[in-house]
Amino acid sequence: MNCSRARTAGSTPGRPQRVPRTRRGSDRERSKVIPAKRNTDNVGRIPVEDHAFEVALSRGRAADVDLDSALTLFYGANRQDRARRLFQAAAQARDTALGRRLTLSAHLHMITRCALSPSCKYCSLSSSIPSVSDERSPLTLREVIAGARFAEKKGARSLVLVGGTDPDGSDERLRKIVARVRAVTDLDLAVDVGPSLSERTVRWLGRQSVSPIYCSMETIDEKVFAVAKPGDDLGARRRFMEMVERSGGHLGNVVMNGLGTPESLVRTLLESRRFPHTTHLHISTFHPVRGTPWARRRPASLRSSLKALAIARLAFPTLQLGLAEVGVENPRDFASVASQLAAGGGNTLAGVLVYKNLRIDHMERIRDQATSLGFEAS
Ligand code: SF4
Repeated sequence: MNCSRARTAGSTPGRPQRVPRTRRGSDRERSKVIPAKRNTDNVGRIPVEDHAFEVALSRGRAADVDLDSALTLFYGANRQDRARRLFQAAAQARDTALGRRLTLSAHLHMITRCALSPSCKYCSLSSSIPSVSDERSPLTLREVIAGARFAEKKGARSLVLVGGTDPDGSDERLRKIVARVRAVTDLDLAVDVGPSLSERTVRWLGRQSVSPIYCSMETIDEKVFAVAKPGDDLGARRRFMEMVERSGGHLGNVVMNGLGTPESLVRTLLESRRFPHTTHLHISTFHPVRGTPWARRRPASLRSSLKALAIARLAFPTLQLGLAEVGVENPRDFASVASQLAAGGGNTLAGVLVYKNLRIDHMERIRDQATSLGFEAS
């Protein structure tokens, strides 16, 4: 699981749309966009010619996004007028593929403990401040049921059961929770406990119509991953995602902006093409949490997350895409709803977040905001 996820996720009614096959432009077109550069950490210093931006945007409109054109869009959109056009193209792609209907979901944290040691450097669990790390204390079964009922009462259609990563497995507890929540609510269910499940349980979840099964990669940059998540294993995450696909399940993924370079962010987004069963893809924006090893690290910019979101929409028009933020940790959280819709996000938004000692209900505000923007939210 990724503790900076929460804003958008959940299962989607009807047949989930998966990652489309890659379409490649001509070599002549590719030569007009900027070449992929390694370790380009400074977004503002990569110049993009008008013509190159236009070529990349027109390829984006045709869902023909490779790494070079994605980076051209990313850096080119540092200019306000280009960012506006990128967002408009992404919103148009979303409207064409999915329409303007939003499904409101809920997230329940944490249904299982996280056994990683040490904890991820950005995670509340690594905070030396007890009131912060306690936010991620596992819920009792009774609290899980109460949280699910609360979500349903508030009008959520789907519920993401979010927990920590346990390499020894969370199968038994997860099955018990899914069965109990199913017995007391009519919510569609999704799970996010990282690579903590056996293939047998993944297949069982499929039979229970629990979808998607999340496994957040955060970044495919192995060095950056090892620094940010010293107790985690990127290879185990990849293997788990492959196993979910082999089992016929649908995948959810979260990518974190702020872990590495813009190039590694874009590469990680486009990596979804390797997992054609992906139906949900979210971008979290690193925000420092008090008391953690990364408490003094500079936050990632919401604007760069929005650019990444718009590029992801052009690359994957039919996916459920959005920003993943945690309201209790990120004061910019609510403002991002309108921004992400304008940048092509949708069509599932989390309106309810339940933690051990905290319940957040944004349902009415999101409904009002979505309606005023011309969306129908249910
Ligand atoms: S420490 Fe565990 S719960 Fe926290 S972000 Fe890492 S995997 Fe998720």
